[in-house]
Amino acid sequence: MIVVKNLVKKYGSHIAVDNLNFSIDKGRIYGFLGPNGAGKSTTMNIMTGYLAATEGEVTINGFDILKNPEAFKKSVGYLPEMPPVYMDMTVREYLNFAAELKGLSKEERKIQTEVIMGRIKLNQTADRLIANLSKGYRQRVGLAQAMLGFPETIILDEPMVGLDPQQIIEIRQLIRSLAKNHTVILSSHILAEVQELCDYILIIAKGKLVAQDTPENLERLFLGTGLIKLEARGSVEKIKEILSRVRFVKDYTLTKKDEQLYQAAVTAQKGADIREALFFAFAGEGYPLLSLYEEKGTLEDVYLKLTQEGGGAIESRIQKRA
Ligand code: ADP
Ligand code: MG
Repeated sequence: MIVVKNLVKKYGSHIAVDNLNFSIDKGRIYGFLGPNGAGKSTTMNIMTGYLAATEGEVTINGFDILKNPEAFKKSVGYLPEMPPVYMDMTVREYLNFAAELKGLSKEERKIQTEVIMGRIKLNQTADRLIANLSKGYRQRVGLAQAMLGFPETIILDEPMVGLDPQQIIEIRQLIRSLAKNHTVILSSHILAEVQELCDYILIIAKGKLVAQDTPENLERLFLGTGLIKLEARGSVEKIKEILSRVRFVKDYTLTKKDEQLYQAAVTAQKGADIREALFFAFAGEGYPLLSLYEEKGTLEDVYLKLTQEGGGAIESRIQKRA
């Protein structure tokens, strides 16, 4: 388990990471989602020991990263945003070299390089120069490098950037297969990339954590809170009267669509499903409903809203909608 506590990173007076708190449990795929400049790479660089924090701490299984850098290196594999590429090495040479940097013994280096190349399907390209590989294959080499030493956690910074759709599908499959044996944290500025792949999403904007939950819960939390749209035929006074009688209706707005035809947008109290009550209330008065549905947004809406407004407490957002 990795715990990030009160993490702050300042570049001069610019606050790149602004008091981040979160924890990473074993065996899941985490998505670090946020627009460019949100602070994803900075946070990942700190979590992997490449960059010192200004304030706060990172612990893995209870060990402080600063006091136990060696233990940390063993538990975390990292594919940085701009991986160091050694164009004039073959894939096998490079992986052996990276394994040496990680302190693996000569035999271990050999074994692991072959095992990992097998898993990442790099055997066919083992003896090709990295310079001659496609971007997709270079990214695989980066993944392979992060797997050396079989660390508990693998951190991947924007692993899908610059890949074509087919390569993205392949990398996604690889990441899924990694998750069988490792905790995976990956960053992206594109929601669609993390939505399908990740078990848990942390949304950051301007260095702040603005939301975190499973993709399903994020959707529910922000959008499924009961905006019901309905169309009813009848007099506006009567429609108002019916709406104000239905239990758990918080408020509503009415729009005239046509003569004797109104659309109502009804907000329910938090957690209440008022669709049936609305139906029976109108039916009981002999007022036919021409449509009735719960308006659901998408996670994309949530993401845009959260990151464009740029920060703010999650709780206050929920309150506003409650
Ligand atoms: P992301 O990875 O989410 O795109 P970064 O972590 O790279 O975001 O950057 C966060 C913020 O910190 C940005 O405003 C960026 O300009 C700034 N920043 C990043 N690295 C440096 C640096 N070495 N010096 C000064 N500012 C930096
Ligand atoms: Mg980045």
